Amino acid sequence: MTKPNSDPYWWEEFPAFDGEAEALPETCDAVVVGAGLTGASAALTLANSGARVLLLDAERPGYGASTRNGGMIGGGYRLSLDEMSQKYGADTALRLLQESYNDSYDFARKRIADQRIDCDYNAYGRFRGQWNDAEYSATARGLDDLRKLIDVDIDMIPKSGQRAEIGTDFYSGGMRLNDHGGIHPGKYLNGMLQSAARAGAVVMGNTPVGDVQKQGDGFVVTTARGQLRADTVLMATNGYTTLDFPRLKRRMIPVSSFLIATEELPQALIDDIMPARRMCVETRHRHCYFRLSPDGKRFVLGGRAAMSRVPQARATSVLRGLMSEIFPQLAKAKISHSWTGQTGFTFTFLPHIGQFDGVWHAMGFSGSGNAMAPYLGHKAALAMIGDPAADTAFAQTTLETRAWYRKSAWFLPFAHQLYRFTDRREDRRRAT
Ligand SMILES: Cc1cc2nc3c(=O)[nH]c(=O)nc-3n(C[C@H](O)[C@H](O)[C@H](O)COP(=O)(O)OP(=O)(O)OC[C@H]3O[C@@H](n4cnc5c(N)ncnc54)[C@H](O)[C@@H]3O)c2cc1C
Repeated sequence: MTKPNSDPYWWEEFPAFDGEAEALPETCDAVVVGAGLTGASAALTLANSGARVLLLDAERPGYGASTRNGGMIGGGYRLSLDEMSQKYGADTALRLLQESYNDSYDFARKRIADQRIDCDYNAYGRFRGQWNDAEYSATARGLDDLRKLIDVDIDMIPKSGQRAEIGTDFYSGGMRLNDHGGIHPGKYLNGMLQSAARAGAVVMGNTPVGDVQKQGDGFVVTTARGQLRADTVLMATNGYTTLDFPRLKRRMIPVSSFLIATEELPQALIDDIMPARRMCVETRHRHCYFRLSPDGKRFVLGGRAAMSRVPQARATSVLRGLMSEIFPQLAKAKISHSWTGQTGFTFTFLPHIGQFDGVWHAMGFSGSGNAMAPYLGHKAALAMIGDPAADTAFAQTTLETRAWYRKSAWFLPFAHQLYRFTDRREDRRRAT
């Protein structure tokens, strides 16, 4: 069997960014570290305000999660109002719900439209498969509560209606988020980078930033290509944050997620497994998410084959197993691509905007950033230029660490085992 390509499938249509600067300027107004969705969106907003912006990445621009992800876009974090109220108070909790379900997604759609980003965006709708009947009922109750608080376009789909959504009986019904969509991650990030560059931002890849130090009114930024001075700096490194920035690193948990794409499938098989072309996710901790490629010819599935890096062959085999479990029809499908990426989880499961020693950061998207990352990149940029429209409840969330998390996320394999155990317990509830 041929070994699958270990580059993301999306990179087949993710051109190398042309127009990268070759020499580091001596000064600029703003440096943005990390050229993913957060950094590119921040750079665009900063450049539009007239600032001289430098957008740096350690690798090729867009190397991180932004071009490796599942390409599902929409709002919402899976935390209840009660959980958020207990931690941040009722008013902030309500604002967090409003911003995560509606404002961030509205912003991302507007940015796609205003910048004419050709990224195969389509409002396919998202089906979230429920793992057992008890979970279906609890989710339906939670949805009733949510509807009383904010405007959401979501329906519960009972098991009897499931086959119209997805070609499997694997789930106990599901939730359909009607306005959620799908994008092509490579084209999305490329469009965001091009927009930032058009607005005047200077983009440089292969330029790791090793240090940022306050000096006078501004900062000295040390990179592999030399030093420069900047008035303000944003860290937008999420799950790829390195130990050069220990305070951030200790607050960002790099959880790996793995994806596979099949070779092109026969049309009849595509129609059978994905009759409504939905973006699909599920509620168990193995957390599979799957969709068709934007051209409708391939099946793309992601999941938690492990929570830390494992050999790609092992991840491929686990994901193949999960794919065949959900869709036995795909047991013989050939895998063309198998890749991985790092999400940036926080201990609160919510992202955050803030500052350490005057250096801004916007990160912690906890597995869901296609709408939220451009939104918070924009908000961080507004904060950097002192615009009151920067106001966001995500400045009130806390970026926490734990005494036992210092250099490496040694605890992830244990967390993986714990989740497997929880899944097995939920499996039993499924059988009864
Ligand atoms: C496999 C996978 C599937 C996902 N699926 C979805 C999905 O379907 N829908 C969704 O909404 N979200 C999804 N996500 C989450 C989403 O991709 C991220 O939240 C989002 O892309 C984060 O964007 P970012 O710009 O903050 O970080 P990234 O895109 O990760 O960019 C960070 C960049 O920082 C650079 N960097 C790090 N350190 C330095 C340094 N010292 N100097 C210079 N550069 C540095 C890195 O090279 C990297 O390019 C997924 C994530 C993964 C990994």
